Amino acid sequence: MLTEVIQAADDDMNAAVERAVSLLLDGDVVALPTETVYGLAADAFSPAAIAKIFASKERPLFDPLIVHIASRRDLASVAQVPESIASVVAQLADAFWPGPLTMILPKSDAIPDLVTSGLATVAVRQSAHPVMRAVGKKLGRPLAAPSANRFGRISPTSASAVLKELDGKIPLIIDAGACSQGLESTIISIEPREGKKPIFRLHRAGPITKEQLQEFGKVEKPVLGDLHQPHAPGQLASHYAPRTPFFLIEHAQDFRPEPGKKYGLLCYRGNPADPHVACHDWAQMEALSPGTGKLAEAAVRLFYSMRLLDEAGLDAIIAEPVSETGLGVAIMDRLRRAAHDFSPPA
Ligand code: AMP
Ligand code: MG
Repeated sequence: MLTEVIQAADDDMNAAVERAVSLLLDGDVVALPTETVYGLAADAFSPAAIAKIFASKERPLFDPLIVHIASRRDLASVAQVPESIASVVAQLADAFWPGPLTMILPKSDAIPDLVTSGLATVAVRQSAHPVMRAVGKKLGRPLAAPSANRFGRISPTSASAVLKELDGKIPLIIDAGACSQGLESTIISIEPREGKKPIFRLHRAGPITKEQLQEFGKVEKPVLGDLHQPHAPGQLASHYAPRTPFFLIEHAQDFRPEPGKKYGLLCYRGNPADPHVACHDWAQMEALSPGTGKLAEAAVRLFYSMRLLDEAGLDAIIAEPVSETGLGVAIMDRLRRAAHDFSPPA
């Protein structure tokens, strides 16, 4: 299969949107930009189209997909929001939609089991990206769209990264440049409490931080054996993983290079005085936020920088931790899961 790439210019994306919609109506998959990472989209109501997402990504069927709605009104077609959480769902949607917050809600009958991997819940969000929104609106149906990478690999934050992952496996990529957030959406489920703010279970840390969510409820870890919890990939050892062995080293003095090996460093600011930068003569170094260091910039550049190092022919990549506050929580989550010696939380 030939993979076509169409540019969506800021001032004219009609041709790109029309081509995408026509393929989606035919039951095909299309890679589309979102504000988080590029997604591989298909008609969320069509099991045959959904099956193509799993096939082209080589994604195991136990890993459920996120469903994107084009407008708030469409929520009722994909989820059955219980009365007990209706008002907090509305508050969260007012505050964070369109945007990178995914809510896990009881699914509607129209959503095929394939989308949710047999779970009774569906993960829903409304993307803020103009291309994703325009395609969803024109199609008039919700889109299931996981990240447009092969399973377990680094998420794509540009059309060229999607091409490297899925060239020849999908018919179309819409190129709208680099993603503005660069990290996958925050995922929560919601538990109502009598007379108190609800509990939000944080299934995946992301661009909407714990601090932002705390205004509306109490943020906690998912409980083991939770009905909402898929047997799955967030928890799998190798996720967001470069092909090159990748190690997160907390303290620079713990790095013991083997003679003759080429090491690359993924660091925060790249300041020559920082211990991780100073402790070795790195074959290649990528700073997530050169200069003063800003977590928002580091988030945007994380997967791109991991790809650059992965393509550099190194023997291993060493990553420097970032501070685990605000967006740093999501960045550290991705670094840990990408790491060679990561073991999932018990
Ligand atoms: P991706 O779109 O590739 O970032 O992957 C979607 C993520 O959403 C996966 O980590 C899934 O485990 C998670 N997810 C999707 N649906 C559900 C659900 N119903 N319950 C819990 N997690 C979900
Ligand atoms: Mg993914």
